[in-house]
Amino acid sequence: MRSLSVGRFHDIDIRLHWSFALVFAWVFIDWRDFGVSDGLGQSAVALVLVALVFGCVLLHEMGHAFMAREYGIRVHDVTLSVIGGVARMEHLPTRPKAEVAIALAGPATNVAVAALLSPVVLLIGVTRGFATPGDYVLEAFAPSFSGLLIGLFYANLLLVLFNLLPAFPMDGGRMLRAGLSSIVGREAGTRIAVWVGQGLAVLLAAAAIFWLHSLTLPLIAVFIAVLAQAEGRAVRIESVMRRMRVGQFALWDMGGVSPEQPLAYALRGGPRDVAVTRNGRVVGMLWRNALLSELGRGGRELTVADAMSTALVVADVDESVYDVHQRMTTHKAWAAPVTEDGVYRGIFTADRFLHVYRQLAPNPLEIALTEGPLALMQRWAGPFGR
Ligand SMILES: [Zn+2]
Repeated sequence: MRSLSVGRFHDIDIRLHWSFALVFAWVFIDWRDFGVSDGLGQSAVALVLVALVFGCVLLHEMGHAFMAREYGIRVHDVTLSVIGGVARMEHLPTRPKAEVAIALAGPATNVAVAALLSPVVLLIGVTRGFATPGDYVLEAFAPSFSGLLIGLFYANLLLVLFNLLPAFPMDGGRMLRAGLSSIVGREAGTRIAVWVGQGLAVLLAAAAIFWLHSLTLPLIAVFIAVLAQAEGRAVRIESVMRRMRVGQFALWDMGGVSPEQPLAYALRGGPRDVAVTRNGRVVGMLWRNALLSELGRGGRELTVADAMSTALVVADVDESVYDVHQRMTTHKAWAAPVTEDGVYRGIFTADRFLHVYRQLAPNPLEIALTEGPLALMQRWAGPFGR
């Protein structure tokens, strides 16, 4: 996904996704017809409102992010896209209770914003003598300061309703999945939640075309359906990887190098990441980069111990591919030595992980372009096909 970093808040990167541009298309194409004033002035006010609304979307995502931290999940960044925002977490919460709490924290911030705005909105209504809710809605589309505040109030209510739709990747979808997970398990729960979400996206698209005559809202519905699919796929891949043992995918090795050996000795067999062992036990990793740069600086008299790193991710053969990869990502380790009963057996690298991942989640476009459409069909029917 292509996105642009625009700032940082409490260690969380704030990014804009390319699809965010669709928001502006929506404002200029759809909102011109609604207004009481000329089209362009209307669009300008709408743009200010949209900027404020996305400020509230950002608050919403920060709600998720800070609740996730409460449950010990690290949040890398928050990305704003056309359908709102996404807080990218280190991993998805697996416990239903955590998933519900994190999902609820987003809409809760919008409820809070709407509650804060409600006295102001009521005051505007009283002073202007508004009689029906329709008067408020009409004012929301008027290019004025009071219109802006009422618009923001409604926008927050809509954000709550929209996000509580039981469709992935909306918060309602996550709560539905959490509820289903506690009954039928996480994999099946996700599958059902994806179906419900995609069905809802189709209904929304149809409703938008028939009643609102909008063509940008169906585009958003398609976006929802695609993201729902991606969510289902991510969970399916995750659960397969949780079942795979890392031992199956490690590159077997005859024993690594010992710390006392001269650095140049580690170059035999070509420059690569090598495990450093003593009596079969892993004591460090000699990274290819460190090896080459030390030798390049002329460190011929150095030993392996001088250049090795002792900050390690060591995996047991019986650990799952998923768990090991999580730890490698957290510690930014490119490779992990694999041991059996504490004895060094081989190495698991990020390349091996990528290979496994591509087998499980082939990118259809990539396969079609590099191997042809026939290969794509064969792959689809293969062991990892659906
Ligand atoms: Zn949310």
